[in-house]
Amino acid sequence: MRWSLRGNGISGARNGNASAAGGRNDHGVSGGRRGIGMTSARTRERLVQRLRDQGLSNPLVLEQIRNVPRHLFVDEALATRAYEDTALPIGYGQTISQPYIVARMTECLLEGGAPRRVLEIGTGCGYQTAVLAPLVGMVFSIERIGALLERARARLKELGLSNVHLRHGDGFQGWQAHAPYDGMLMAAAPMAIPEALLAQLAPGGRLVAPVGSETGQHLVRITRRGDDFHTETLGRVSFVPLLKGLG
Ligand code: SAH
Repeated sequence: MRWSLRGNGISGARNGNASAAGGRNDHGVSGGRRGIGMTSARTRERLVQRLRDQGLSNPLVLEQIRNVPRHLFVDEALATRAYEDTALPIGYGQTISQPYIVARMTECLLEGGAPRRVLEIGTGCGYQTAVLAPLVGMVFSIERIGALLERARARLKELGLSNVHLRHGDGFQGWQAHAPYDGMLMAAAPMAIPEALLAQLAPGGRLVAPVGSETGQHLVRITRRGDDFHTETLGRVSFVPLLKGLG
């Protein structure tokens, strides 16, 4: 195994300011937040270097971390921290994933070849989606909290990502209409991978997900071989739980 994962996936900020992003929609690329220090090339490069130092090496993924304007995915009050390697609150008790975790999961998914169709569970603010979309054929992403999904939709559209399809739904069910998927990525942790998701994974497909309770989760990569599911355990992480039903 090439990496060892630190045990602080996206913990820390998960129950931060639940109303942080309430009602804002001033995240436009053309807004006044362009050109200020925190979004500078140097700040972003520092983040990329930090991820490299931690063992991440896929140049395509690192290029995405460099290019995707993470400050547009968080509330303006938190924008100065957008290029720190940390999770930040996005409202509704949820967090934007830590850049290390986003890069790490994306690398794991891409290893062995870029998937054509990816199902993502837990769109959140859309940051992981934006990192992933240019690297794969198409992304189908499900979020249970409608308000978060609509905000993500607006941002992803602004960024011109046309190969992303979003759905307000419960990720436990997957998205049968577009199955099978040759890649799946989960941003919230179930106690066990839902059967419906395994059923929607194409032969040879890979699913990368955190699994376990809030006190003990592991990142796993499951590869489907016929009706066999080969599981690799990639290290300890800390994600918000996968919740049932709509938010
Ligand atoms: N990658 C996202 C992380 C968001 S946190 C980002 O970068 O912003 C995880 C998200 O999973 C939350 O938005 C939460 O609402 C969502 N979630 C939890 N359970 C879910 C479920 N059953 N179906 C769909 N989304 C779910």
